[in-house]
Amino acid sequence: MTILFAKRAEVPQTWKVATVAAIKAAGDGDRHGADAFIQTSTGLRIPAHSNILASMSPVLARVLNLPNKRWKSEKVIRILGVPNEAVLAFVRLLHAGCDEEDEEMMRRNGMHLLVLSHVYQVKWLKRACEKRLAFWLDAATVVDVLKLARLCDAAWLGLRCLKLVKKDFGAVQKSDAWQFLEANDPWLELYILEFLHESDLREKQSRRNMEEQKTYQQLSEAMECLEHIFKEGCTDIKPDRRRRSSCSCPPLDACQPLQLLLLHFSKCDGNRATCSRCRRIWQLLKLHSSICMAQDSSSCKVPLCRQFKYKMQKMEEKLEERKWMVLGKKVASVVAFSSFAKRKRYESGRDLGPE
Ligand SMILES: [Zn+2]
Ligand SMILES: [Zn+2]
Ligand SMILES: [Zn+2]
Ligand SMILES: [Zn+2]
Repeated sequence: MTILFAKRAEVPQTWKVATVAAIKAAGDGDRHGADAFIQTSTGLRIPAHSNILASMSPVLARVLNLPNKRWKSEKVIRILGVPNEAVLAFVRLLHAGCDEEDEEMMRRNGMHLLVLSHVYQVKWLKRACEKRLAFWLDAATVVDVLKLARLCDAAWLGLRCLKLVKKDFGAVQKSDAWQFLEANDPWLELYILEFLHESDLREKQSRRNMEEQKTYQQLSEAMECLEHIFKEGCTDIKPDRRRRSSCSCPPLDACQPLQLLLLHFSKCDGNRATCSRCRRIWQLLKLHSSICMAQDSSSCKVPLCRQFKYKMQKMEEKLEERKWMVLGKKVASVVAFSSFAKRKRYESGRDLGPE
């Protein structure tokens, strides 16, 4: 394991051995300049340097520098509800940073250290805990770690947990933690199931997008080839064909099937309207003409391009014509209605006129 963080301060060698006894000895004897204590639930007092605590944790800094707080003879900060070993590890990490010797200590206390680093806002330690916990994740522990990650706003770790649940859902479902979750925590269960469902949907959508992109890519290659075949004569079906080697055919695996289709189209004996191969090339030719920018027939050699364009233009004109016709009908009916209303008003005015 690489050294995650450099040592923060010189600490007594006894502290390096993360055992309660060693710290007790340090507390009873030489305190190496420590001017504060961290006290645990069982009354264990761990000597600490208040300036290091304050520089590492904004929360501890506030506690140590409370304006109205009068420390008696010594500064004692209580960290309760956490096992001694975890508090000890926390204090040691604040003083010494995190290195490869801490692997085992992290493994035993990782979850508690995550909580402590979250509560006391020690960002680097929280990140280190997230990394280590994610590294040790397995199907048996993932649900508990996920629960904790949510409580500690550890979004990165939470996501890693969810990804593992998704990857190994069968094994996770067999774990005790999952059984407990099913019986006692329907909200978290729902949250996990929703994540699985949404990520399934996302995967399907991205697969669909990729397939669409692939189709567009193939179509664009086909368009490129179509122009290229009829412009440069890169084909066996054109009478004035040039030598294949002289042509810089772009995507060869798109070009050859297209040439075969064109060859079929030119010789098809069947009904072209129902023949699937003819229909395909027909659609490709139509697609070409819809994107072809050539102004006149001499600049585009692709067959049927001009005819399709002409047809489309006619259709557009028809559509436009129909729009005008509908508009005309509507206006005419409004005109007829208003002149009828005017006449009515005029007639009723005459009836009521002076006798
Ligand atoms: Zn080609
Ligand atoms: Zn070619
Ligand atoms: Zn055919
Ligand atoms: Zn064209």
